[in-house]
Amino acid sequence: MCRPGGHLRLSLLRRPTSDEAPGTTETPALEVGGFVPFSSTDWPGKLAAVVFVQGCPWRCAYCHNTSLQPKRRGDGMAWGEVVEVLGRRVGLLDAVVFSGGEPTLDAGLPAAISTVRAMGFQVGLHTAGLDPARLKALLPLVDWVGLDVKTSFTDYAEVTGVARSGTAAKRSLAHVLASGVAYEVRTTYHPALLGDAALIDLARGLEAAGARDWVLQQWHEQDEAANESRAAHAAAGDAPVPLLAATWRWPPAALLDTLREVGPALSLR
Ligand code: SF4
Repeated sequence: MCRPGGHLRLSLLRRPTSDEAPGTTETPALEVGGFVPFSSTDWPGKLAAVVFVQGCPWRCAYCHNTSLQPKRRGDGMAWGEVVEVLGRRVGLLDAVVFSGGEPTLDAGLPAAISTVRAMGFQVGLHTAGLDPARLKALLPLVDWVGLDVKTSFTDYAEVTGVARSGTAAKRSLAHVLASGVAYEVRTTYHPALLGDAALIDLARGLEAAGARDWVLQQWHEQDEAANESRAAHAAAGDAPVPLLAATWRWPPAALLDTLREVGPALSLR
């Protein structure tokens, strides 16, 4: 997931352990890939803890959290440990945000949402909309959704590496907008992966779908996480992530004007 804060850095040690999360034996516990106990950026306007859920089948060329892509089990924090930490933050945090990886694909997510809600937290969800049906079922359970929209819906495979991923994302967007849940639609801007024509097409697509606003967020090349990401993609045999000029730039002013003209209200982050 392309979160506003960028790369995930684990704040607690990984350790193999049996999971002791509340719930029945029929419901698998959430597969936790990482945990950030305090964030002011993952749900704008809220102080939140962020639970990173392991596993994502897409292979976005700019993914900063490649360690969360494999559906590894049993080598992260147990969900029960996360609940324990959250218990000490009741009254100090507004919310818990489930991020990833792709949290909607984890069968343990509904029970995890129910647990944190019972503790008094609001619930945020980061998703790339990989599975529209699962997302639709989860929407009544959450208070806010940060929906990643990668590029023009017809160009998705160029970013995600997965055929028809744009169709899934478009359906997910429609579900979010129809649900009435508070949301943020955001797109990571990587000039080498998101050309001008695709950006304009995306702006039109968002407007046509009824999105009221849209955030373009900066892809950070000049950091350790980007280097880790590039090395991980190279090791997996993926095409190299295109390098950017040393000085990162937003789209030119004329293009931003066009996006504002044809798309939803635009902000840059
Ligand atoms: S959707 Fe893309 S950016 Fe998000 S976790 Fe999956 S591969 Fe990474």
